[in-house]
Amino acid sequence: MIDFASARRRLVNILRDEGIIKSDRVERAMLSVPREEFLPNYLRLYAYEDTPLEVMYGQTISAPHMVAMMCELLDLKPGLRVLEVGTGTGYHAAVCAEAMERRGMIHTIEYYPGLALYATQNLARLSYLGVVHVFVGDGSKGLPKYAPFDRILVTAAAPRVPPKLFEQLSSDGIMVIPIEERFTQVLYVVTKEGGVPHMRPVTYVSFVKMRYSEE
Ligand code: SAH
Repeated sequence: MIDFASARRRLVNILRDEGIIKSDRVERAMLSVPREEFLPNYLRLYAYEDTPLEVMYGQTISAPHMVAMMCELLDLKPGLRVLEVGTGTGYHAAVCAEAMERRGMIHTIEYYPGLALYATQNLARLSYLGVVHVFVGDGSKGLPKYAPFDRILVTAAAPRVPPKLFEQLSSDGIMVIPIEERFTQVLYVVTKEGGVPHMRPVTYVSFVKMRYSEE
């Protein structure tokens, strides 16, 4: 039997020492969500290794440090309206829900129906479906019906900030998004300054590619 709770505590302590986790809010959220519950059985052993893991269709659950870092950058609090592009396993959405004290709304959109179903099952088992709503489709176009969003979290790398996502960000909103540059990817914090994007680079990253079209 693996002692998942102790392994989770150890990893969170390391992330705090490294300065990746900065706030008590994100620390509590990372401690509350059992990452092993978002993994198939054969990968559970690695739940608290700080690494991405391939789950299905060549897609990955992000590394814990990346989940924590993005949650810090999003400055989450109760009551926000959040959009996540790239549901994957549903893990990151669950951590966001905890950082928001399960109050507010997280809409998350996934391209692969099979992954959306997997995420829905994971989120249902842990009673997140009251806060997290899973959609299937091309998230590069956002979810115009439910816009604007206070926060937009993108977990697949895009060639640029998708214009439709930027439109759906509220005027004082925050978007966190990995962008593909020439030889690498860079994580950006995007805000709206007088209607135009202000892009603050944070660090080099490595995400799966976003399915992207501008039609
Ligand atoms: N947040 C996830 C990790 C996501 S990996 C987790 O916590 O597990 C990135 C995900 O983005 C993949 O599942 C991939 O299928 C999805 N994706 C890629 N392009 C997309 C698009 N245009 N719209 C919606 N999802 C997309």
